Amino acid sequence: MDVKVNESCIACGACESICEAVFSVEDVAKVNASAVAANEDCVKEAADACPVGAIEIE
Ligand code: SF4
Repeated sequence: MDVKVNESCIACGACESICEAVFSVEDVAKVNASAVAANEDCVKEAADACPVGAIEIE
């Protein structure tokens, strides 16, 4: 699973709340790629919860 945050991110913090092992939000959300494999379920939850659809999963 490859996870990216696109330029739509408004830094709302939802993804970090749902999946803090993978997402950290500063000016925009950042992805800790090394943590994705062990946290795929909450990555999907965060992508569904993102209000602007900024989390892209490939
Ligand atoms: S939930 Fe979406 S908009 Fe909010 S910080 Fe995460 S990527 Fe950005």
